[in-house]
Amino acid sequence: MAKYIFVTGGVTSSLGKGIIAASLAKLLQARGLKVTIQKFDPYINVDPGTLNPYEHGECFVTEDGAETDLDLGHYERFLNIFTSQANNVTTGRIYQTVINKEREGAYLGKTVQVVPHITDEIKRRMLLLGQSKEFDIIISEIGGTVGDIESLPFIEALRQLQWELPEEDTVVVHLTLIPYLRAAKELKTKPTQHSVRMLSQEGVHPDVIVCRTEEALSPEIRRKIALFCNVKQEAVIEAADASTIYEVPLTMMREKLDLICMKKMNITQYQEPELGKWKEFLDKLKYPKSKVTIGLIGKYIELQDAYKSILESFVHAGAMNECKVQIVNVHSEFITEENVFEKLGALDGLLVAPGFGMRGVEGKIVAVKFARENNLPFFGICLGMQMAVIEFARNVLGIKDAHSTEMNPDTPDPVIDLMEEQKKITAKGGTMRLGSYPCELKPNTLAHSIYNTDAISERHRHRWEFNNKYLDQYEKAGMIASGKNPESGLVEIVELQGHPFFIGVQYHPELKSTVENPQPVFVSFVKAAREYADRKNAIKNPLLQSEMI
Ligand code: GLN
Repeated sequence: MAKYIFVTGGVTSSLGKGIIAASLAKLLQARGLKVTIQKFDPYINVDPGTLNPYEHGECFVTEDGAETDLDLGHYERFLNIFTSQANNVTTGRIYQTVINKEREGAYLGKTVQVVPHITDEIKRRMLLLGQSKEFDIIISEIGGTVGDIESLPFIEALRQLQWELPEEDTVVVHLTLIPYLRAAKELKTKPTQHSVRMLSQEGVHPDVIVCRTEEALSPEIRRKIALFCNVKQEAVIEAADASTIYEVPLTMMREKLDLICMKKMNITQYQEPELGKWKEFLDKLKYPKSKVTIGLIGKYIELQDAYKSILESFVHAGAMNECKVQIVNVHSEFITEENVFEKLGALDGLLVAPGFGMRGVEGKIVAVKFARENNLPFFGICLGMQMAVIEFARNVLGIKDAHSTEMNPDTPDPVIDLMEEQKKITAKGGTMRLGSYPCELKPNTLAHSIYNTDAISERHRHRWEFNNKYLDQYEKAGMIASGKNPESGLVEIVELQGHPFFIGVQYHPELKSTVENPQPVFVSFVKAAREYADRKNAIKNPLLQSEMI
């Protein structure tokens, strides 16, 4: 029988519930338990696929093609497991299921209500992964903040489950904020007391309180929180700000979060945590031997969550190379032929980010040209790859009006065109080419040397594709298709011959990078950037240096 841990949040949003949930999961996994995590999001969108990145950060895509919350990315990166559609449930999806059932006549004669119909559907989803017998523990992170109107049905479903299941089958971990008042030089527990009281009014009593804090919790403060929130003192956990999210499992281990949860669940058989690989990674991350500066060219750079998986992939790849990767965000909308050297001249590598729509694409094309002409390592992802294809057409093949039909539907030269199967689709949610697809690699190419295998599988999220009508022209001029889908022949990877490192991928490699398995293209890209930086430093003559960059 699986057991269930619920993680709720109080006082304010953005406390890092996802990281705490993932860290707890990591520790339990390291102790030999089979663990998975799911996220319940209280918004009405059926999934985050249609949300602007400014609203909710990046949309994470799973192997099975679900468009999900970015916290699932943390779960996969920490646990080194795949999640699926079942791991992310929104209010929208719950209502959609209930309303569809109502239309089918499943509730004939009955009034359909939040309690019991919506809460029943939430409970069904909360228990679903536990029924596969694949897992010992299911951690459910409940999005939003306790006290929000929209999270009420989730808390009510949790209350009912606690009542229905044996006492030792559930644990509630409540994450709150203990603010530090600088003027008074004091940590304040009142917001936490209020938050726990609110949760209790909704019928749920936390077993563990995890306190986000900038200052260490003294024994008195811990005692006060324990007393007023009615938990054991050992169940008051300090979660101090960490220098990296990957440190958090270790700080939670020091605070014994895993042991306290296991005690409540009556789990007595477990091993010493096996975190050797994790610690090795952390050591490399903390004590790098070199440094590179990579430009991230995108249009959502004001919000770091918009490129979460890319940034984390660089953390993994940097550690693998024992190299600190410093990311410089460059807004693509403001890159022009005139200022490109000033903006990109000092970089050791260039990543052109994924994206949708017209805004900022011309700046991305200028950036690609700069990388191509100056032997600067280049990595284009999805839209970034498409921009590399357009740039090559315009500036090498001489096809001046080449474009993607996404930006210019009337272009005479659609080198990037809407996929055939996309042409009849009008609905927006979940209709892109999504999830994992196979890709065959051409021998003796950069792609093949990076992956060191003939066939790979990567995740996708796009509607447009390289137009194969132009492929011959490209290959003759030196831009080759080094990865293709074996069934459809769709070009998945392009690369430039004669350039030290220039690769564009139609898929999203960032979605599969984990601490234990850093993504190979990112690892090789960081290595290429390091070599580029070494070459640059080796050339002492400033004139040569400026020629090179
Ligand atoms: N807008 C492009 C497409 O749909 C690229 C998508 C992306 O970068 N994820 O094909």
